[in-house]
Parts: sequence; C-alpha cells; structure tokens
Amino acid sequence: MGSEAEEKKVFDAEAASSMMEKLRGSFSSGRTRSYEWRMTQLKNILRLCDEREQDIVDALRKDLSKPELESTIYEIGMLKNSCKVAVKELKHWMRPEKAKTSITTYPSSAEIVSEPLGVVLIISAWNYPFLLSLDPVVGAIAAGNAVVLKPSEISPATSSLLAKLMPEYLDSSSIMVVEGAVPETTSLLEQKWEKIFYTGNGKVGRIVMAAAAKHLTPVVLELGGKSPAVVDSGIDLQIAVRRIIVGKWACNNGQACISSDYIITTKDYAPKVVDALKHELEKFYGKNPLESKDLSRIVNANHFARLTKLLDDDKVSGKIVHGGERDKDNLNISPTILLDVPRDSLIMNEEIFGPLLPILTVDKVEDSFDIINSGTKPLAAYLFTNNKKLKQQFVATVSAGGLVINDTTVHLAVHTLPFGGVGESGIGSYHGKFSFDAFSHKKAVVYRSFAGDASIRYPPYTPGKLRLL
Ligand code: NAD
Repeated sequence: MGSEAEEKKVFDAEAASSMMEKLRGSFSSGRTRSYEWRMTQLKNILRLCDEREQDIVDALRKDLSKPELESTIYEIGMLKNSCKVAVKELKHWMRPEKAKTSITTYPSSAEIVSEPLGVVLIISAWNYPFLLSLDPVVGAIAAGNAVVLKPSEISPATSSLLAKLMPEYLDSSSIMVVEGAVPETTSLLEQKWEKIFYTGNGKVGRIVMAAAAKHLTPVVLELGGKSPAVVDSGIDLQIAVRRIIVGKWACNNGQACISSDYIITTKDYAPKVVDALKHELEKFYGKNPLESKDLSRIVNANHFARLTKLLDDDKVSGKIVHGGERDKDNLNISPTILLDVPRDSLIMNEEIFGPLLPILTVDKVEDSFDIINSGTKPLAAYLFTNNKKLKQQFVATVSAGGLVINDTTVHLAVHTLPFGGVGESGIGSYHGKFSFDAFSHKKAVVYRSFAGDASIRYPPYTPGKLRLL
C-alpha cells in the first residue's frame, strides 16, 4: 500500500506543463471564443452561487468564522452582481468598437476588436477567498480565455470547495483549479501564460511579476497598502463612524484590502471621534466583542502573532484607548483604537490588515493630505467632510487606487468604476467592463479599399511632393 503522499498526485512542473498542454489545445480549438460558451459558463457561475450558497457560507465560516450576512452580501452577492453585469453586457462588450480614422489613411475605416488573450492564470488571496477567486474568473471567461485558478491555501475549506464545485458547474476542459501553496504556485508560475492576475501582498506580487517577465507575460497585481480615512470636523459624526466601522470591522474584522487602515483627524476633534467610535462599536458588537458572532476571527496563528506584535511594540505602549483584548485560543482580537501613535511605530509602517485602528492627529485637517502623500500610494483613501474646497483638494492632490468621500469601501460595488491600485498598491484594474478589458487584447484593425490610391508616400520623393506637405 502506498503512502498518502504517494497516493496524492503531486502538482509539480511536469503536471503543470501537461495541464497547460490540455488548456492550450482547448483554447486553440476555439471553443472558449464563442458567445454561447462564455454565456453558458457565466450563467453556470450564477447557478453555482444559488445552488451551493449554504456550502459556500459553511466553508467561509470554517476558514474565517465569517458571519453569514457578510458572506452572503460581500462574497456571494458581489460575485452574482459581477456575473449579472457580464451576462447583460457581454454582447455589447464583444462587439468591435468603431474608431475614427485620419486624413493620412483616407479613405478607410477602423475598429478595435477585443480578442481573448489565451490561457490565463488567476492567483487569489485568503480574505475574501470565494469572491477574489471567482470575480477575476468572470472577467477571464467573459473575454473568452481558458483559465487556471489557484485559490489561497490559507483558506483551505473554500479552496477545496472551489476545486470540487468548479468542475461540476464549468467546462473543465477550459477552466481548471489547482490547489496548493508555494511549491504548486511556483510550478504554475514557470509556465508561459498570456496573463497572470494576482491578488495578495506586494512581496509575492514581485515574485509573480519576475516570473511573468521571463515570458513577457502581462500582469494585473491587486495589492494592498495603508488606506487612510481623514475625518474633518463639522460633520454628522455618528454616520461617519458607522461607515468607518462597517468598512473596517464588518469587513472580515479589518482583514480587507480597502478597510480604513488608520484615521487622521485634528487634535481638537480626536476625542469626539474616539467617543463616537466607542459608542457605535458597543452598539454593534456589545460590551464583550470577543464573544460577538458578528465579527470574523483572525485567519490563523501567524496573522494573530503578527497583529499582537503591532500592539506589543513599545512605541505604542499606553496608546490604546479602546479594546486591545485578545483570545489566543480562538484567534480573536477585539476592535482596538489607538490614539496618537508615533509615525515610526510598527503599526504605522506596515499594512495592519486586522481589527486595529490607529488615529493620527494634525493641527489642520489639510495637513492630512501631506501625511498620506508622504507614504506609498494606498489602495483607497477616504475623506469625511462637508467642506467643498477640501473635497476638491483631496481629489486633486491625494493619489490612491480609489477615493470615496463621506463613506468607505463602497467604490468596490460600483461596477462602472475600475478597481485597482497605483504604485505599491497595484498594477491594472478590474470589475465590470474593466474585467473584460483586463483579459482582452485590443486589436487595432484598419479597412481600406483599392480606391483612391494617389499617395505621396510612394517613391520617388520628388520636390513637388515635399511642397504638398
Ligand atoms: P495569501 O497568503 O493568500 O497569498 C496570496 C496568494 O499568493 C496565495 O494564492 C498564495 O498561495 C500565493 N503565494 C504566497 N507565497 C507565494 C510565493 N512565494 N510564490 C508564489 N505564490 C505565493 O494572501 P496575502 O498576501 O496574505 O493577502 C493579503 C494581502 O493582499 C494584503 O496586502 C491585502 O491588502 C492584499 N489584498 C488585495 C486585494 C485587492 O483586491 N487589491 C484583495 C485582497 C487582499
């Protein structure tokens, strides 16, 4: 009898290359290009969401104790919306786009034809393991590609559910799932892909980009960063803090790429912000939030240790003004607010990605923008204000993947907006038509006839021709 390791087929470079051969064959056969194939796969993803909703909710609970409402809205609901937009718009997206021509090519007509890239790789992250796996797959399918999805091993229940369900619902000759961690992803990255779409941290983003460079493969990198929320005075503070809380703790307990990483407000206003946060947090999660069923847990012991290290840094000692309780056995940390942390503390020098929220204070609210722009470019930035000039200044001067005024995270749900980072927070974007474009080549096509062939570009280049210019 063979050992378990022998029985379980290892996914190595050989397995990756034989899988690639099958996918190439499938793509070359042209099956993924037809409107009908794309539409069938998209509708099957919708069917998967409807028929297997309970399995998905259960897997997310196992991986993250994700509350059912968060799973239903932010993972399943958002994916269904993406699919519905693609189903509704696919014909329109696939249609060639007329382009204006110039006098140089007169007479002629031109168009932009969207063609599938080929065989693409999608590597996803653990925090929204269902949505972040299938949302890019929707774009890749809509654009007519063959796809390999590599879900995150850090959310193993969702990863194995995807590996089980995708072949049941989707064309398994053209859409495949590979489970695994670094060795399996490394084998996949050695292959030649037509696009790699990666969601995760910037350190691995660099590994992905270096692997892609070997084959001149284009990449989309959906990364993270420290997304600030600037809070001006003279606002409806209760609504503002509720919207910050919902985008932070009600998004996977702060383990979300566009959660507010820190707040900046003025020295005078900070006590009011802290009080309002405490008040609303208690209303949402009770007096003992470690017991709350409405908060996800920290994903694993490594991330728990990383977060507690940020709290135990000497530089933030005495700065906790709310929360700070931990439960190592159940991997829980209560919603925690820190006031006036030093800019050189650990917590202000890495993405927090958890339930800790530091507040920095400034003399004038306008000073916040300099603080934001002095760091690496965040994935999102938020401003709460009623001041029109401040809004204009924010939009004109703050560079981030996306901005929201008077709310947090909601730009993610606007499918007519591109979602992606800038600088350290990422390369490229997706959602709605941007997903289709991310997985398409925009082919330039010019049509000419044999009429009107008098052209000064034909030699000999006589002085008379020069004078015509
Ligand atoms: P992760 O640990 O799940 O890693 C992401 C993927 O990279 C996984 O599939 C993993 O297997 C693979 N991977 C890890 N090490 C690798 C290596 N050495 N070589 C090849 N592949 C490797 O997720 P994470 O990185 O902890 O995710 C959190 C980060 O992702 C945060 O920075 C967050 O802001 C960012 N994020 C961004 C978005 C977005 O849409 N922009 C969404 C979610 C998370």
